[in-house]
Amino acid sequence: MDAYWQKASQRIREQVGPVVFETWFAPLSCRGFAGKTVTLEAPNQFFRDWVKDRYGKLMSEALSTEAGESVELKLVFNREKVTGRPRSTSCAEAEATVSRPVRRESQQQLNQRYTFDEFVVGTSNRFAHAAAHAVAAQPGEKYNPLLIYGGVGLGKTHLVNAIGHHLLANNTSGRPRRVLFMPAEEFMNELISSLRRDRMTEFKEKFRRVDALLLDDVQFLAGRERTQEEFFHTFNSLHSDRHQIVLTSDKMPREIPELEERLRNRFESGLIAHIQPPDLETRVAIIEKKAALDGLQISQEVALYIAQNVSSNVRELEGCLTRLAAVASLNSSAITLEFARQALNDLIHQGTVRPGIEAIQNAVADYFHIRISDLKSKRRTQHIAFCRQVAMYLCRKLTESSFPVIGEHFGRDHSTVIHAYNLIARRVASDAAFRISIEKIARELKAENHSRAA
Ligand code: ADP
Ligand code: MG
Repeated sequence: MDAYWQKASQRIREQVGPVVFETWFAPLSCRGFAGKTVTLEAPNQFFRDWVKDRYGKLMSEALSTEAGESVELKLVFNREKVTGRPRSTSCAEAEATVSRPVRRESQQQLNQRYTFDEFVVGTSNRFAHAAAHAVAAQPGEKYNPLLIYGGVGLGKTHLVNAIGHHLLANNTSGRPRRVLFMPAEEFMNELISSLRRDRMTEFKEKFRRVDALLLDDVQFLAGRERTQEEFFHTFNSLHSDRHQIVLTSDKMPREIPELEERLRNRFESGLIAHIQPPDLETRVAIIEKKAALDGLQISQEVALYIAQNVSSNVRELEGCLTRLAAVASLNSSAITLEFARQALNDLIHQGTVRPGIEAIQNAVADYFHIRISDLKSKRRTQHIAFCRQVAMYLCRKLTESSFPVIGEHFGRDHSTVIHAYNLIARRVASDAAFRISIEKIARELKAENHSRAA
């Protein structure tokens, strides 16, 4: 079967060029051919998602052409390879886990990974954790509402999700438990859409019949009068039925601007738990736990290095691990301290030397294997337009040049640059694999600059 994939991959190589091929296709291996399905294995999940997203169609076509009939492509990832730590799940199961449909409506919004088991307790969050646990054990009885507040990336969303999971998994009430988790922003969107479609009865019904309402990021309600009013009624209705309400916020209620007095009073009427940034020990523990869960093998030394250098929030700690996993799998290297220093260089020490626009154009053209003249040309093929947008985005991110100046370097006006910037920024925010690639280009640029400056 390998020979078969070899042939198809030659076709792919011709189409994408050697650089892209070496980066994204050479690391794939063929795991088999059953019925009309070819199974290819990627070194890890990011890799799998990225390749699938980008090149899934191209690969299916190349395989089908080789086979002379339509072939289905299945991409799996190998958890053991990056990890070096054996796991019981086979790669087929890994695929199955990813695509498993969600069971119940109420669970749809809960993040599977955000459970109490995966939450590391330390001094900074002990109280919030205990409060969350108490509420999950006795919903509607002890602390209602529970409000968890604290800075960005400190585990608020994780904790409310954990409450949701616990409520669903330990339901002794004898009937299905209705748990609704929702960002406050979505509450507003649903409200608006219900108002518009004249569906307010359904809206009220939906929110008032739940056993527990978990509303995330209520600071978002600031200044939204209509939404606040509706939420006030929802709140009262749930509260008087002794149904549990859990809220999170990045501020104390009294610091939320333009929050109605009556709502502020409600928010403050139950238990308020503050989460603070984790101390060093907790950071190390979090890194070790996340690494173990991802099957990523890192030494204590590396965990300490990250914990000492990244202190503001947990999401950034995770960002470091994600980066390490991706870089380690691409280079199939062990994660030594030196390796971590290199791989995390730009995340940890924000470089002060800035690359110029030409250097960025060069790097992007190189990375995507196109010519610089294409970047500056009027050509509009999808691929080239995309590379150009990435280059514009990076110019804005990495240099201090204005949109019009960047435009000049591409023979475009500033509005095109703004559009490109927004487009790529949105994708960076929503697509982890994409973000990693963009960061890789940026990192190489900075590294190059450093070595030139040195
Ligand atoms: P917030 O909602 O406060 O902005 P999140 O709950 O989204 O933060 O947390 C950001 C990331 O950090 C999540 O992936 C979460 O799993 C992780 N995280 C935060 N605190 C902890 C903790 N104490 N233990 C384990 N993971 C944590
Ligand atoms: Mg959150």
